[in-house]
Amino acid sequence: MKQLCVRCLFIGTGRHGLFSGNVYVAIAQVSLGIALIAVNIDFGNLGGLDWEKSLILAISLLSILVGILNFRDYTKPGRICPKCATPGMLVIESPEGQRFIRENNIKIPEQAMK
Ligand SMILES: [Zn+2]
Repeated sequence: MKQLCVRCLFIGTGRHGLFSGNVYVAIAQVSLGIALIAVNIDFGNLGGLDWEKSLILAISLLSILVGILNFRDYTKPGRICPKCATPGMLVIESPEGQRFIRENNIKIPEQAMK
């Protein structure tokens, strides 16, 4: 699945940003969340959580959630052009990609479609 950069017309595979689809950041986010919960939260006494512990729990869960979203992005191609760093590369086969190619009269090399 090749993508096209709308700015420099580079054809190839987009890359991910640091906080989107970065598997190492995703692992760090999930581990941080789990570690914070393990260190701070006593699951035998959830009713006794004060506001500070509740806040830590909320931040931990958020960190894990963001990490999971990051993992999900990792399985999809990125949308940032590796050549000029413009986000929003279009998939050539998609309707938006086809429309952009038609409107701008772009010639796509035959081998780029494979
Ligand atoms: Zn580009």
